[in-house]
Amino acid sequence: MSRVCDSCAQATLVPFADLGDIPVLCGVHWADAEAAAASPVGRMVLAYCPSCAYVRNVAFDPAVMVYDTTMDTNLHHSPAFQAFSAELVKHLADRYRLGGKRVLDVGCGQGEFLRELCHTAGCTGIGYDAMYAGPVGPDASGAVFQSGYAPRGAGLPEFDMVTSRHWFEHLDDPYDFLADLRQRAGTRQVYGYLEVPDACYDLSTAGWEVIYPHVSYFDAYSLVRIVERAGWRVEDTGTLFGGMFRFIEMSANGDAEPRRGGQPVPGPADRERQLSAVAGFMQRHEAERKAWRDRIGELVERGARPVLWGAGSRGVQFLTFADADRRLAAVVDVNPRKWGRYLPVTAHRVESPETLSMLKPDAVIITNPSYRNEIGEHLRRLGVDARASMPRSLARPRKTSSSHQSRPFWDGNEACNSSTLRRATSSDSGRYTLRRARSPSHFGIS
Ligand SMILES: [Zn+2]
Repeated sequence: MSRVCDSCAQATLVPFADLGDIPVLCGVHWADAEAAAASPVGRMVLAYCPSCAYVRNVAFDPAVMVYDTTMDTNLHHSPAFQAFSAELVKHLADRYRLGGKRVLDVGCGQGEFLRELCHTAGCTGIGYDAMYAGPVGPDASGAVFQSGYAPRGAGLPEFDMVTSRHWFEHLDDPYDFLADLRQRAGTRQVYGYLEVPDACYDLSTAGWEVIYPHVSYFDAYSLVRIVERAGWRVEDTGTLFGGMFRFIEMSANGDAEPRRGGQPVPGPADRERQLSAVAGFMQRHEAERKAWRDRIGELVERGARPVLWGAGSRGVQFLTFADADRRLAAVVDVNPRKWGRYLPVTAHRVESPETLSMLKPDAVIITNPSYRNEIGEHLRRLGVDARASMPRSLARPRKTSSSHQSRPFWDGNEACNSSTLRRATSSDSGRYTLRRARSPSHFGIS
């Protein structure tokens, strides 16, 4: 498993956390429980680069991670994500004057983002995704969709901008991907936008976001390193969506113009924060796993009928680590495609949130802080008077603006230390109506 760093190529990756076997197909849901329970697992061994803090699963096996249209990793079912995405579309359309241009969207999901970009910017686009399940070919927005991986090399059409949201971290060869795009750009002036989970977030918490399909974990510095090493100029970079996502805008042959972003490009000083997150990760992960198993046990014992809200990949990881024996009363999700179906390995059945109005749980566990207000509102509409809990380590500063108009697009590189996390937890108090139980010391939004 010895491997030279994909980002900087200047050091060998050093293993620091072995999470064992975890579900491979964490975006897939099955019609029957037995098939779900028998679905494949893969080994997760995280290793980091001492030179640039890039993190990768060095046990990743591309042969077991095959994407197809049965998978649903779509984030667009959430109004919070939709609103964020709509603002991003406006931002990119304006900043890169995309009218009349051609955009490639690599890993386009079900095409929502590219369609909206074409519609708003007046550009055309080609979307590629092996998980794309819609009609193949051109649609009214100006976008053309292909169900499958984007071609490499000469097979790739000419483009003015390439976007790739939440796909880059899935690649076995992220450097080759970027180098290939750069080569394809040739002497033309082109731009790029990548969006990935922020590794500083993922590794400063307990590891609920560390999932098998995510091969790479990029923080501020390692993302800059891989982009620059592949021959691109960094235009702008920062975090988004409550600090959970990291974006980078890049250009080729745009050197005659000033850089777009107003903030300095992250450098070696930014690496230290990530290295300290890496150093504490395994201990934090084990402590959080145990705490949640104990917590669910207590809730079940006192008849609180605890439920999990959110059957996305983070929820699947949570269930794998904290509820493999299925003590939770229910798992619900807003995505109708998941209702009545079973999650990988643990085989929890997913229900509609509406079932909670009958079940009347006293405790709702949520794994994604960015959807906290949305879930709270939904619970109130359902007449559910529950206490919402989430791992304290997931409570994060909300100083990120998702609005590109009212505030700067960039929100800086947030500190990922525990005092910031504690401050965020207390400053978020009151956003959520929690009535029933007192908050135990190490849980809850309080
Ligand atoms: Zn490196």
